[in-house]
This record gives sequence, C-alpha cells and structure tokens, in this order.
Amino acid sequence: MHKIEKFPQIDGELGWLETAPDSDVQLGRRVKGAQTFDFAVIGAGFTGLSTATRLAELHPSARIAVVDALRVGQGSSGRNAGFLIDLPHNVDYNETGVEYARSQYRLNTFAIDRLRAFKDRYRIPFWIDAGKYMAGHESENLKNLENFAAMLEQAGFEHEVVSGKDLARRLGTDYYQSAVYTPGNVLVNPAALVRGLVRALPSNVSLFENSPVQAVEYGPPHQLRFLGGTITARTLIQATNSFSEQFGKLSNRIAPIFTYASLTHPLSEDQMRHFKDVKSWGLTSAHPAGSTVRFTYDRRIFMRNTYDFLGDLRATRDELDSAWRQHRRSFEARFPFLKDMTFEYTWGGVFGVTLNHESAFTKAGDGVFVMGGCNGVGVVKGTYLGYYMADYVSGVKSDNLDFVLQNSKPSWIPPDPFRGIGAKMRLNREVSSAKGEV
Ligand SMILES: Cc1cc2nc3c(=O)[nH]c(=O)nc-3n(C[C@H](O)[C@H](O)[C@H](O)COP(=O)(O)OP(=O)(O)OC[C@H]3O[C@@H](n4cnc5c(N)ncnc54)[C@H](O)[C@@H]3O)c2cc1C
Repeated sequence: MHKIEKFPQIDGELGWLETAPDSDVQLGRRVKGAQTFDFAVIGAGFTGLSTATRLAELHPSARIAVVDALRVGQGSSGRNAGFLIDLPHNVDYNETGVEYARSQYRLNTFAIDRLRAFKDRYRIPFWIDAGKYMAGHESENLKNLENFAAMLEQAGFEHEVVSGKDLARRLGTDYYQSAVYTPGNVLVNPAALVRGLVRALPSNVSLFENSPVQAVEYGPPHQLRFLGGTITARTLIQATNSFSEQFGKLSNRIAPIFTYASLTHPLSEDQMRHFKDVKSWGLTSAHPAGSTVRFTYDRRIFMRNTYDFLGDLRATRDELDSAWRQHRRSFEARFPFLKDMTFEYTWGGVFGVTLNHESAFTKAGDGVFVMGGCNGVGVVKGTYLGYYMADYVSGVKSDNLDFVLQNSKPSWIPPDPFRGIGAKMRLNREVSSAKGEV
C-alpha cells in the first residue's frame, strides 16, 4: 500500500473564493463507506474536472468519481491570477518554431472555447474578454517586449504595441514604459469558474470534497483509502499537479513552486477618479520573475509576485507575511495615489514547474494515468490535458492527442535536496534580476 505523506492546505485567505457567489456552498459530499466506480479521478481542479466531464461524454453510463482533499475552488485552480492565455506563454519561437506555436495556439483556443461554452450554458460570472498586456517598467526589459512582438508578427498572431501616455491612459498608472497587448486572452475569477464547471458534471459523475486520499492500494482494481471510506475503481486518473509525486507513480519531474497573491478592497468612487474610462485589465511582466497585476471587474487591484520552492507543499505564516510586504511595495510603486488602500485578502498557492516546460501526461501502470506540471498556465492547459487524457484512456485518437503525447516528456529533475537547492538558486537569480518589474 502506498501512503500519502503531504496534503494540500489552505494557505492564507483565498480572495477569489471569498468574493465568488455561493462560496460557502459545499458542492460535493465527503467519502464515507466503501464505494465502487468504473473511473476514479483524484483532483477537482481544472485538469481533474475536465477529465471527468469528457469521460462522462464518452461513457454516459459509466460510474465516475472525482475526489479532492479540499473544496472545489480552494486548490490552486481557485487561487491563480485568472488568465486564460490563448498564446503560447512567453515562448521563444526561435527554440520551438512557428509551427509548434501555432499547434499550441490551436490547443489553447480549443480549451478556451470549451470553457466559454460551459460559461455560457451555466451562466458562470466574471468572465471578461479583456486581452492581456505584457508590460515593461525597466528600460533593459523593453528588448524582451520587442522580441515578443517580433515573434508574434512572425507567427501571424494579432497584437498591438502600446507605450507612454497611451498605455498610462489605458491602465490608470504610468508605471510601465511599454507593453504588447494581445486581444485573445480572457480574465476570470478562477474560483467562480472552476466551481461553475461542477455544474457541467452529469449525473453519472459523483463529486467528493474535503476527502484527502490517504493511501492507495494499486491493483487493478485500485483502491483509494480515506478516513472512514474507500473508493475502488478499475481505472485511476491522477490530476493532482504539484502533489503528483505523493502518489508514487511519477518522480523527479515536477518542482513545486509557491507564488502569492493579494486583492485589495474595491476602489471607492473617490479612488476611481484615477481610473476614469479605464476598463478592466490584466498584465503580465516583460520579465519572467515580474509581477502580474489586474484591475478587476469589481474595481479591485490584484497583485501577484514572489516565488519560493517549498518542498513541504504548504506556506508558513512567515512566508505569507513576507509576500504581503512585497505586494505592498509593488502596489505602492505602481499606485502611489492609492497609498491608503489595504489588501483585503492575501494567499499563496503552488504550481508545478518542469525543467523543459513540458507537462507529464502518461500511463503509469495497468489502469493508472497521471497528469501534472502545467508550468503556471494550467487553467487552459489543464483543461485540454484533462480532455485528451479522457480520450487517451478511452482509445479515442486525434491529431491534438498526438501533439499532446509528443510534447509531454518533462525532463529529469534531481531528487531533494539537490532539487530544492537548484530551484532556490535559480529563483533567487531570476528575482534579483527583475528589479522594478517585481
Ligand atoms: C498565485 C498563482 C497564480 C497563477 N496564475 C495563473 C494564471 O493566471 N493562469 C493559469 O493558467 N495558471 C495560473 N497559475 C497556475 C494554475 O493555478 C495551475 O496550473 C492550475 O491550478 C493547475 O490545475 P490542476 O487542476 O492541474 O491542479 P490543481 O488546481 O492544483 O488541482 C489539484 C487538486 O488535487 C488535490 N489533491 C492533492 N492531493 C490530494 C489528495 N491526497 N487527495 C485528494 N485530492 C488531492 C488538490 O486539493 C487540488 O485541488 C497560477 C498559480 C498560482 C498559485
């Protein structure tokens, strides 16, 4: 029997969940007693829910279970920055090639279209087709923007360079010198979206929340052990992202990296003077370690930065406090006219990073399948990985599935302590070179 050692926890106050409608409603039951299913999916984030929804489409009479240690929306899927990125994210097309970028774009837009259809059908709120700015503050990073724009041009992706006063007018801050705007990105409240997706699960799918898997007896059939219950299934799909290694079927592929976010109170009418005619926007940085910032649909400022390798898969009070202090500095630099404004929520979340940016997507035993390592773009990536994992398990073939299989070979990462030392060194180097982009 394989025992799980590390479990997800709630790291801080989860702002998106707190501000989503019906956030206190429990959507699933806790696992109790012995139950049997055809398929069991571990993880009810974007990846696991997408797997279950597609499995149910392919097998309408099969019994399918989805289980999560937390409530839906409390995991990383509900804690992220809420960017549904259509373009290959910060890619260097010189390395991967234009054809790869176009295939990646096709998959990303396939996932966004699928999420959009669920959003429309189930009236999921806070979806905004706002596009995205990739912006630079430091002069030395403007060349990254130029390269990005040149690569978009080469691949034929729509974009616009916005600078100086024009950019300041659109953002409500003159902190950034220049930005590349791409229109196909969507901004969401990720907790509202992932919780809304539960409504897409048909009646042959049972959702279990607050049910950490404590041990697995691999078969087949495979048995998941919970406090006071078991789930037995012929086919087991693991969609636990950074927790994947805990289940013993994937090792030395994913590094768990923590990052943190804060959300202010909504701006008052008086504070909104500074944002006259400014529409809701989202911005990523011209530097890989820079801040992600949003001006949200409900007039709040969202700030995300700080990276940390946390082998325990949980953040301490000190780590959350230190992230809060960095968020404050970053916020005041960008919005000095909002000095009195406070953060209503600050939280942390883990995402799975692989060395070569390829995710794990693999058969890992008789009737056992594993996905993970979405490299910070898992809302869209998890959605298509989950969909094609259901196809893979069911023997449904397609060009998209072939592309996913060919590009899901994460390279080897040394075991701890070397993994932790290497990751911390690299993160420190990145963060110190980001300067005013943080
Ligand atoms: C602050 C932050 C900002 C980010 N911004 C973005 C962004 O803007 N856009 C984007 O695309 N991505 C972003 N990401 C990354 C994104 O959140 C992840 O890539 C995404 O959540 C991956 O989805 P997933 O379903 O694969 O994994 P998760 O969302 O991590 O879901 C895995 C689930 O497995 C469950 N689990 C783990 N262990 C067990 C167990 N023992 N028993 C039962 N259940 C278990 C967990 O509770 C969890 O709910 C960000 C991440 C963070 C932290």
